[in-house]
Amino acid sequence: MKNDLAKKITEALKLRDVMEFYGVKFNGRGFALCPFHDEKTASLSIKNEHYKCFGCGAYGGVIDFVMKSYGISFRQALVKLDSDFHLGLIGKEPDYRTRQQMAENRRIEKRYQEHQEELHQNYLTLCTVHAVLFRRYCNGEEWLKDMIEKLDILLDDFSGEEARLWEMATNKSHTQKTTS
Ligand SMILES: [Zn+2]
Repeated sequence: MKNDLAKKITEALKLRDVMEFYGVKFNGRGFALCPFHDEKTASLSIKNEHYKCFGCGAYGGVIDFVMKSYGISFRQALVKLDSDFHLGLIGKEPDYRTRQQMAENRRIEKRYQEHQEELHQNYLTLCTVHAVLFRRYCNGEEWLKDMIEKLDILLDDFSGEEARLWEMATNKSHTQKTTS
């Protein structure tokens, strides 16, 4: 991930543009005064997107240049380049409050899903009980009528969402049965 980002940043930028942006001036022959040591004659040049100083031996790519110029870490150099050149490759890190809110949202969502699942299971159980009792009622056990009516009311009390889930579940099993 980290290296992937470094690769993207390196690919997005030309070393010479970056060095010029940070104040290094190149002459007509492509040489610059080395920013890493004191010199009067330009002895730093760029080849294959790497700078090399023939005076002090400094060598590196665009990220090395920023790290060394500003005395910052690899990660800080990536952030600086992304920011200074408006690359938009690094997303803004969410602050503490945002992270807490996100975690809280995930907890609420999980609890909601668990609750939905529980409701759904209860609904399925009720449906099964209802079906069993209704079959017995049809087979002559008339005394079950009251209980079945109470179950009907209970089942009606479930939200439309539950009915939809139930429909989905039954349709699914129906489809599975017919296709197999
Ligand atoms: Zn040098």
